Amino acid sequence: MDKRLKFALGLFIVHVGSLLVFKTGVSWASLIIALILYQIRSLGVMAGQHRYFAHRSFKTSRPMEFLIGIMAILSAHGPIIDWMAHHKVHHRDTETPNDLHSPRVYGFWTAHVGWFFKRSFLEVEIPASLKKLMTPELRFLDKIHDLVFVVQAFALYFVGSYLEKNFPHWNTNGLQLLTVAFFIAYTLSFHVTFAVNTICHMYGIRDFDVSDDSRNNFFIALIGNGEGWHNNHHRFPKSAQSGFYWWQIDGSYYFIRVLELCRLVWSVNRVDPALIEAASLKASKLSFTKSN
Ligand SMILES: [Zn+2]
Ligand SMILES: [Zn+2]
Repeated sequence: MDKRLKFALGLFIVHVGSLLVFKTGVSWASLIIALILYQIRSLGVMAGQHRYFAHRSFKTSRPMEFLIGIMAILSAHGPIIDWMAHHKVHHRDTETPNDLHSPRVYGFWTAHVGWFFKRSFLEVEIPASLKKLMTPELRFLDKIHDLVFVVQAFALYFVGSYLEKNFPHWNTNGLQLLTVAFFIAYTLSFHVTFAVNTICHMYGIRDFDVSDDSRNNFFIALIGNGEGWHNNHHRFPKSAQSGFYWWQIDGSYYFIRVLELCRLVWSVNRVDPALIEAASLKASKLSFTKSN
């Protein structure tokens, strides 16, 4: 099946499926399971696909890389190799026609969801340097990407049915769990990731003077595990930490930090605070005021 059609179909199914909530309603059990799964999938794409696979902002062992790969695949944001290749273009050719996610070039809707209808989505070249990074087990994960997505839907339906039978006081069932933890949770997850490229290139604060439109957006950072600090990220793309101050909440970095404390990851890239201060627009304004 054409990759574009597959993406469109997946997105259509989760949106339409979400409407079932008017029939199933929600329960605490379904909400808690959905939240846990949302978080695993979100960290899979934000900390896994993005900060590890695309930017290599920390190092880890091969078994741990495989586990991060599983989380990335659970996020259903596309095969690891494709994601890395597309993201490379987003940084290299930001705000040019090559960057399908640019609202400046394509407008909000095409940059948000319309990009996968474009022919050039299929034509992104995958450099040999990226192919070399793919171990056989990561290639295997990429192969079963679509299957993992579909299996999750069936698994949630069966878990919900099991809970209905054995824990009736939890007030959930197969259809409800499928609706809340699969359809709705995925719909949100996809839009939050897309919003990093659209909302965070349109609305927010620019702390660094970079050549693209990237902005820091607190709300997207909050629901997107720190990826809303997108202006910070465009300025320091190799950093594993995107929230530079205590109030810049960065769930992906907290996750990486916990893994680091457990010695499961190491060589975590961080930016020297002095460099952040020196590069920030506030600093350039200050020095401008002083010299005048
Ligand atoms: Zn960007
Ligand atoms: Zn990036």
